[in-house]
Amino acid sequence: MEKNYYVELKGVNKSFGSFQASKDISFGIEKGKLIGLLGPSGSGKTTILRMLAGLETADSGDIIIDGKVVNDVPASKRGIGFVFQNYALFRYLTVYENIAFGLKVQKWPKDKIRARVEEMLRLIGLEDTAKRYPNQLSGGQRQRIAFARALAPQPQLLLLDEPFAAVDAKVRQELRSWLREMISAVGVTSIFVTHDQDEAIEVADEIIITNQGHIEQIGTPKDIYRQPDTPFVAQFIGQSSIVEDFRRFAGFAHAGSNATRAAVRPEYISVSKQGEPLRFPVNTETGVVERTAFRGSEIELTIRVKDTLLTAKRLLDDTPVSVGETVRVFIYRLYAFDNEKAYV
Ligand code: ATP
Repeated sequence: MEKNYYVELKGVNKSFGSFQASKDISFGIEKGKLIGLLGPSGSGKTTILRMLAGLETADSGDIIIDGKVVNDVPASKRGIGFVFQNYALFRYLTVYENIAFGLKVQKWPKDKIRARVEEMLRLIGLEDTAKRYPNQLSGGQRQRIAFARALAPQPQLLLLDEPFAAVDAKVRQELRSWLREMISAVGVTSIFVTHDQDEAIEVADEIIITNQGHIEQIGTPKDIYRQPDTPFVAQFIGQSSIVEDFRRFAGFAHAGSNATRAAVRPEYISVSKQGEPLRFPVNTETGVVERTAFRGSEIELTIRVKDTLLTAKRLLDDTPVSVGETVRVFIYRLYAFDNEKAYV
């Protein structure tokens, strides 16, 4: 059965001069979902968001919101709220006036504006900031106000472009779970752009992965993590290493399918120092550590096995491994790509 989508893009293309920023973009979003548009810098995320917003026109294809093709509907008539990184609060307006702004534009009556602004301030838990100016707020508070301002006119669709980019790591972490809760509470269909895989995995109901203007994969964070469709997705989500001709690796000589290329996640690699008891005493390979990086509770290792660089991890509390050291490597699972489609 065809799903009932609230937002849909069908075969959308967009070029800037001879550069194609969006290539045959198609996806559908159900009402009330929070979708992450995730991809490296320049992969076309913002262009998709701007076309949805009506700030950019598609060259071909359809943009459908609530069952209506909106290709020719101007931005102001699309009923969309924005929280854009560069769409900062108005510096010379108070918090109250900032949140009231869109309502005034829509000519809401004064008493309704007051009630709505107060409701929004309660929702975001910042009632006592109403009379302050943006420069009297922390970065995290400002982003909450920007969110309240976008939601005040009751948009049916909320677009967020790197909404946490400007705040520090700790506040970003708090804002992520806050945003997730707010959006569930309000029930507004939302799309946010990020290049941070952890952010997308933690916050989104579904993720759309973009690469060089096209979509690589669409799915829930779990599905994408468990079953990456392409080597690009495997590397981008979860730091997989790509292995060519994987049957050369111990334990995989007789794997089925015609595939030759595979991805290995760091958590599917066990690394033992020489002399350490082997957790997996069969099918180990010998590797040489080329790089080590401190990652908090873990040490990330880059290990050369045959001619392939593998990213692996050991716990901080394990006996340290140094660059140049020879180690035993056991790969206990990999994803083989058959015609670029993966199976487990
Ligand atoms: P980032 O994370 O860096 O914002 P992105 O994935 O959002 O990247 P886009 O901003 O959509 O990527 O840009 C995709 C490509 O299109 C980039 O190479 C960019 O230079 C190009 N591009 C975007 N807007 C324009 C424009 N108005 N004129 C010319 N090129 C543009």
